[in-house]
Amino acid sequence: MADRITDIGPPKYDEMWPQYIKDNYGKWKYHEILEPGVLKHVTEDGFELFTVRCGGTRLMTTLHLEDICKIADQYCDGCFRFTTRNNIEFMVTDTEKLEALKKALDDNGNLPKGGTGACVTNIVHTQGWVHCHTPAIDASGPVKAVMDDLFEYWNSHKLPAQVRISLACCLNMCGAVHCSDIAILGVHRKPPVIEHSHLDKICEIPTAIASCPTAAIKPAKVDDYKSVQVNAERCMFCGNCYTMCPSMPLADAEGDGIALWVGGKVSNSRTMPMFSKLAVPYIPNEPPRWDTTVKTIRTILEAYANGANRYERMGEWINRIGWERFFEVTELEFTEHHIDDYRLAVTTWRNSTQFKF
Ligand code: SF4
Ligand code: SF4
Repeated sequence: MADRITDIGPPKYDEMWPQYIKDNYGKWKYHEILEPGVLKHVTEDGFELFTVRCGGTRLMTTLHLEDICKIADQYCDGCFRFTTRNNIEFMVTDTEKLEALKKALDDNGNLPKGGTGACVTNIVHTQGWVHCHTPAIDASGPVKAVMDDLFEYWNSHKLPAQVRISLACCLNMCGAVHCSDIAILGVHRKPPVIEHSHLDKICEIPTAIASCPTAAIKPAKVDDYKSVQVNAERCMFCGNCYTMCPSMPLADAEGDGIALWVGGKVSNSRTMPMFSKLAVPYIPNEPPRWDTTVKTIRTILEAYANGANRYERMGEWINRIGWERFFEVTELEFTEHHIDDYRLAVTTWRNSTQFKF
């Protein structure tokens, strides 16, 4: 650390390892799940490590972080780790410490154990209205509402297999929802509004034009302002132009909303990885509790829980029963938005299910 010449980026991962992880690097033999949220890893030499996984949030208060640090100091030699799904994992090396740690977490009340095995894993999500400039929906808000509703599936193993839910608040998808069992995707449905008088003063027109992946933007003179025009039929509502030019905002209270995608997975166990496919093309933004989205996700999850075989992931279940049957059992409406239509390429580039709103 002393030799670092910049403060950009995290330290090298192995500098932060607890000693027992350093000592056993490359020696792990197997692991098992003892109960929801509790894992046991065993090395070739018989060394045992117990991990307790707790649900966390992407945005945490300093008071909550202080609680986490205190528990880590008291039970885990000052160590804990965050997973990519915003879980907090505490590790101990004997069963006595494990029981004391579990009790401390239960007493805390804000660190629920779970997220292992055949459960709904913690929702990975993007920035939403809190930070990013192109969201069509909020991120933490719908995630909180959905997870509150599905909490019974977080700290149990009553699903056929794990269900990974992800949220990206626009289809640029820095959250990569495209391979999730259930994907919550923010969609814009209208082209950007052009504020010509501002654009003339603050935007670089060639950069805005170059930013458009569908070549929908052209230079134009409007009311004596040097500005641009957008071919609405070519626009796929991606928001790239707004990234370059703040005079081309895309957010729209009526146009923006949620699309739900299902059946994706990254894992290659049993079957190949799969992309998520469109299930519901549009649900309006309904802050603060996103009632329709929450209800629809529960419907999809329960249909899967009732119909899938043990270990079958969402996409494997749908492929087995067929998409027609999926729409029947979930009672979701099948619409023209669900069909790729290459004839639309004649006049627009919105020919796939991603952009047909
Ligand atoms: Fe921004 Fe889109 Fe990422 Fe959301 S998904 S944080 S809007 S780039
Ligand atoms: Fe082009 Fe995307 Fe802007 Fe539409 S939103 S004009 S597709 S950059």
